[in-house]
Amino acid sequence: MNISTKGKALVTGASTGIGAVYADRLAKRGYDLILVARNGDRLNALANTIKQQTGRAVSVVAADLNNKADLSSIEDILRNDTSISLLVNNAGIGSVASVLDSGADDMEAMISLNITALTRLTYAVAPAFAARGAGTIVNISSVVGIAVEALNGVYSASKSYVLSFGHALQRDLADKGVRIQTVLPAATATEFWDVAGYAPQKTKPTTMSAADLVDAALAGLDQGELVTIPALQDDADWKRWEADRRSLAPKFANGIPAPRYGIEHDAV
Ligand code: NAP
Repeated sequence: MNISTKGKALVTGASTGIGAVYADRLAKRGYDLILVARNGDRLNALANTIKQQTGRAVSVVAADLNNKADLSSIEDILRNDTSISLLVNNAGIGSVASVLDSGADDMEAMISLNITALTRLTYAVAPAFAARGAGTIVNISSVVGIAVEALNGVYSASKSYVLSFGHALQRDLADKGVRIQTVLPAATATEFWDVAGYAPQKTKPTTMSAADLVDAALAGLDQGELVTIPALQDDADWKRWEADRRSLAPKFANGIPAPRYGIEHDAV
């Protein structure tokens, strides 16, 4: 086994689905790996396969990112292991249930994984990357972060958070040599749909394979994309939407309510 010139990639949610494909592809690109998820048996099986196929060093940490102590141990790894050069914040769960068919405790657990864990892991590694002037964070969002009416509202909102957070991270970290890529998969054929409560989505013609999704996302990373949406055929659609969003910002700097509200202006 030779020393990796790419460093180590830590991939969350690596036991199956999109995360497992990231693990495979990153090892084939020359990264050593730290694989994180709850199911240690699955992680070990994947790690052994990847080690045999690529000769890369692969370690496994069985951790529940909704458990504070487990999450904290992954944060420590990200803070202290100076060979980590890439974090893939991929672990996430979804739901198709409406607000009336889902419970607040389940929604809190979803927020804890999709938002809190992703945020804490980013906060753990970002200062280390910034201090070294190098490093990449890949955050897995979803197209429902934009098409927010499609699935469960908390899930969609959690993915809007990932997209918004990514924009702010790019603002804060770009000049520190740290790259942020936000990936927005559309429907992808993984166990996500079994957990989310709509298994038939896995075999629909509009659903992408996890392999295609990750290969396209890594191609987008190579091309320097900040936001990668593999299913969106015409990149001009995203660019137009994003330019419109950004063009609104200066129009908010206004101390006078819009005339449509008929307010008598009271200056500060
Ligand atoms: P998946 O096949 O269900 O994989 C989810 C991964 O997250 C698994 O490795 C799972 O492993 C891990 N995980 C779940 N809960 C965890 C916890 N509490 N602590 C640690 N790890 C946990 O789903 P996927 O499609 O690959 O999803 C990956 C990401 O893509 C998610 O963020 C998802 O929101 C996003 N995404 C998916 C789709 C899609 O259609 N599939 C579309 C858009 C975005 P363990 O069970 O072993 O913990």
